Amino acid sequence: MTFKERYKRFKAWQLDPFDWSYDENERHHCVNCGYDFAGKFCPHCSQKAGLKKVSWKSVLQSTAEVWGMGNRSLLYSLWQLIWRPGYFISDYINGKRQVSFPPVKMLVLMGVLSVLIDKLFGSHEVKAFQGGTSYGDQFFAWLESSPGWGWLVMTGFFMIPTWCLFRYAPRNTRHTLPQGFFITVFMAIQVLIVDDLADFFGDYFYIMLPLCYFYVYRQLFGYDYWGNFWRVAITLGSGFLLAALALSITDLMTATPKSYADEFIAIKELTFYSVVPILVGMFISKKTFDFREKNKQTLFQFLKMKFQAIKQRIKQRKKQNNHEE
Ligand SMILES: [Zn+2]
Repeated sequence: MTFKERYKRFKAWQLDPFDWSYDENERHHCVNCGYDFAGKFCPHCSQKAGLKKVSWKSVLQSTAEVWGMGNRSLLYSLWQLIWRPGYFISDYINGKRQVSFPPVKMLVLMGVLSVLIDKLFGSHEVKAFQGGTSYGDQFFAWLESSPGWGWLVMTGFFMIPTWCLFRYAPRNTRHTLPQGFFITVFMAIQVLIVDDLADFFGDYFYIMLPLCYFYVYRQLFGYDYWGNFWRVAITLGSGFLLAALALSITDLMTATPKSYADEFIAIKELTFYSVVPILVGMFISKKTFDFREKNKQTLFQFLKMKFQAIKQRIKQRKKQNNHEE
């Protein structure tokens, strides 16, 4: 198989890795409820077709069931989350829920696993936070002990920016906030994995975090390269500022600052620099969306077409001139 064929097959797998076909003529008799059917599962009681008496294989299978089975296994879901993350998340939020291990459960299990890995191999320098009594410091201490939930909170700050900036995306247009929640959960899992890998490879590995977002959102929302780039950049930037804003507000409410005036100025600036880019980005997105809807093409395609039309006209005029001479 040539490289090109391999790549084509990989692309096809990325878009749809599942094979739901079955032989219509192959009949099964359900051992559980006695129903006769064709297909991989009993439509009456949902037991798997072709199950026999309990054997050693069943022992293995029911043990493995803790981590999910087949399409829904934790490992296969993680595998998909690495190689086709955007399409995978898109499948899930559009109702193909049988394709994934339950995402919140996956996040929590990965969190537990990550604490274990950290205990076993991690360089155990517990970061000392100055003071250590404010809510912010307590939050970071909590983040160390339960990274699953912690990263969910952290990535949660990208949920609203994502919802605003990718409302008018070509794919998953007008995604709802509950869908946004599951996008956030899947992103938290990715961030958690990057965080764990950074323990092994060193801190420079955190460069993978923004790259993850670029990669996933491109598949999930279907903007072209640059359209995706600036929207993700604003999402991440504003998300961080919103997190900083939340921290300074909780600090302000729980501790007495040196100067209230300074704190208020900081809060005002954080609000301004996080909200304005989102609103501007949203406005541009809405405009390009309207254009796309009206013309059924992107602005870039439209300009390219215009340019080609002009080129064509110049060519024709040259031909005419040649004839006249
Ligand atoms: Zn049955």
